[in-house]
Amino acid sequence: MSYLALYRKYRPKKFSDVIGQEHIVTALKNQIASGEISHAYLFTGTRGTGKTSIAKLFARAINCTNLQDGSPCGKCDVCKGLADSSNMDILEIDAASNNRVDEIRELRENVKYPPVVGKYKVYIIDEVHMLTDSAFNALLKTLEEPPMHVVFILATTEVQKLPATILSRCMRFDFKLVDYTEIAKLITKIFTNDGIKFEPEAVTLIARLGKGSVRDALSIADMCVAYTNKNVTFDAVSNVVGSTNLDVLNTLVDSMLEGNIKSLMGEIESISKSGKNMGVLANDVAGYLRDAIITKTCTNYKDILKLPTNLLDNLEKLSSKYSVEDMLYAMRSFASLEQDFRYTDSPRTLFEITALSVCTTRPTTLEALDKRVTALEEKLKQVNP
Ligand SMILES: [Zn+2]
Repeated sequence: MSYLALYRKYRPKKFSDVIGQEHIVTALKNQIASGEISHAYLFTGTRGTGKTSIAKLFARAINCTNLQDGSPCGKCDVCKGLADSSNMDILEIDAASNNRVDEIRELRENVKYPPVVGKYKVYIIDEVHMLTDSAFNALLKTLEEPPMHVVFILATTEVQKLPATILSRCMRFDFKLVDYTEIAKLITKIFTNDGIKFEPEAVTLIARLGKGSVRDALSIADMCVAYTNKNVTFDAVSNVVGSTNLDVLNTLVDSMLEGNIKSLMGEIESISKSGKNMGVLANDVAGYLRDAIITKTCTNYKDILKLPTNLLDNLEKLSSKYSVEDMLYAMRSFASLEQDFRYTDSPRTLFEITALSVCTTRPTTLEALDKRVTALEEKLKQVNP
């Protein structure tokens, strides 16, 4: 049997399977219950947040003759008919490869024919912003006077590229980035279900790496399962995704904040030798400083960070040593580098300049000044006991 990607295998079959988009699910279920189905919907949001999954579910739900808590039953004749991917009632069109006016004209011809299996014929047009101007005009004509049996669901990641005339014809739903705790719960469920061993910290890390996209997180989960032979540990995940070892990161950040240039440059040298991408490293440093600030300022930091104990120890030590201002200053310096890395020919130099300027300059807070005076006094004592 060929391997089925987790994202496909666990595509939601009912509305309660959908995570992170409650506001949309509730609104759609209400419409299904009251029978007030609109003729055109616009689903917009980042990739991997569930636009196509919900569009497919909705398309089946408005046709199902035996709804179960607002979701398609999967058992009635209509559901069975629509489950066949060659059915003529739910049509998925990828606008990226079918963006010409001829294709939309053909669509306009076809909408006239009534559905074969159920009550509605549903057109899901993915990446709709890719349509050409003339294709948009052709689509607009259909949206203005759609046949009663037709529902359009337009999905896009770039809503700003759609003409106002199209926007004004659609009922719009904005998909949110999915919170990583929700994604972590889903991955935990999937791993448990599939008999995959895992460390909870590893799951949290995978969920975070998805950056709000369920699909991206599940792709990373797929990779980790394959790489670790079904035993997903925190270290293995770090290895798979190429994120910097957090012990190494801790030493680097500590040397930098301490003002220890020799140790800082040594760390950069050894990380660089390991083939690390400097842009990714800058991102990791900013992320690590964020975790340190959370450790210092939030009493429930353990719940927020969900890291293995030894790494939490590192963060506790680090954050007790430095002020929030110092760490924030450093974090800001690295977080603002992303653009610069795109245009530089020498990423290592860029990284070093940033690290060295953090290492040698500090925000002039009273706390920081006090620390410097104390350090000077200590040095004086050594010279002149
Ligand atoms: Zn059904």
